[in-house]
Amino acid sequence: MEPAAAPARSLSHISVELFEVSKRYGADQVAVYPLSLQVKQGEFLTLLGPSGCGKTTTLRAIAGLETVSSGRVEIAGTDVTDWPPYARDTSIVFQDYALFPHLTIADNIGFGLKMRGVGKGERRRRVMEMLEFVQLAHVARRKPHQLSGGQRQRVALARSLVLKPSVLLLDEPLGALDAVLRQQLQVELKRIQRLAGIAFIYVTHDREEALTMSDRVVVMRDGRIEQIGTPEQIYNSPRTAFVAGFIGQCNVRRAEVLGRSGSIVNLWDAEIGKVQVQSPFPSDAIADTVSWAIRPESIRIGSASLDCTNQVRGVIAEKMYLGSMLRYRVELSSGHSLMVQTPATCHLSPQDSVQLGWDLDDGVLLAEDVRCAQP
Ligand code: ATP
Repeated sequence: MEPAAAPARSLSHISVELFEVSKRYGADQVAVYPLSLQVKQGEFLTLLGPSGCGKTTTLRAIAGLETVSSGRVEIAGTDVTDWPPYARDTSIVFQDYALFPHLTIADNIGFGLKMRGVGKGERRRRVMEMLEFVQLAHVARRKPHQLSGGQRQRVALARSLVLKPSVLLLDEPLGALDAVLRQQLQVELKRIQRLAGIAFIYVTHDREEALTMSDRVVVMRDGRIEQIGTPEQIYNSPRTAFVAGFIGQCNVRRAEVLGRSGSIVNLWDAEIGKVQVQSPFPSDAIADTVSWAIRPESIRIGSASLDCTNQVRGVIAEKMYLGSMLRYRVELSSGHSLMVQTPATCHLSPQDSVQLGWDLDDGVLLAEDVRCAQP
């Protein structure tokens, strides 16, 4: 039986705040450039980015496992920058579980409580409650090697949650699991986070995991934050070509600005011709040459003319079957290509001459060529 959901904590309260936190190794290795970030209570926040971009270093700085080179770390409004890990109100879950092989599952979960001097009766009660919470009461007396990878990760989670931290830090916790188990545990983790009602800060390089689980995603690149936003904002309104490409397939293109009229920007894309996009930026902030992006699934495809603001003709060069979807590489007369994604019911084939079309608000003007930081 699941314990009752924790009382909903207000999302306005700050659980963790980083003020210009940076981390250097030696004289010339910068793992994280000064970085500021707020994590709200009860929020599922994901640090997403390619290998080496500084996700783990940032997480370890919050846990106190890494000293910071500059800046300040606050947890629940208290400056903990110089506090050791055990004194912080955090707990961390690693990819490799780090369970004690010689202890039973129940003893693994109770170990941290024992170290903190919690009495036997109270310990047993909290361990049992936690075992039920992660639905593992039936394996309480087994040893870690007698569990599956997914079960072991749930034990690792329970061992952290039993300490009642105000924030749980998770470093690629599902990285060692196969794809099916990963998906099951993503749902499970989200359920547990919602019930526990505490902040989860989750590190992954898997964009799908970040999009499905998070309230907000922090996309990192080379030790810096590239963009912070809800999964929808990151996917639909990427600010840079890097975010657009990292978060999914995307056609990213360069174009000259022909003119601006209100929120509409007229572009000249050398391979496509005239293109109109909707812009959230003040028109005088936009440079003369810009990048714009369009997702493959935002482009319509047909054999005849389409009812769209933007159109271009091309020839299907490749057709890729993705299960429920089809992806086409469509070659334009210039020799350049656009990727287009359609439902699998589309019956167009390689060498077919096609019309591509999209509307004003399907394309996105990227912010990297805009002089103001925010729309
Ligand atoms: P991954 O997804 O591969 O774990 P990451 O985004 O978590 O990568 P970090 O582990 O935070 O990246 O590393 C950021 C940078 O700092 C990398 O260039 C890494 O090589 C470097 N780095 C990390 N730890 C150390 C260390 N102890 N000494 C020197 N450089 C380090």
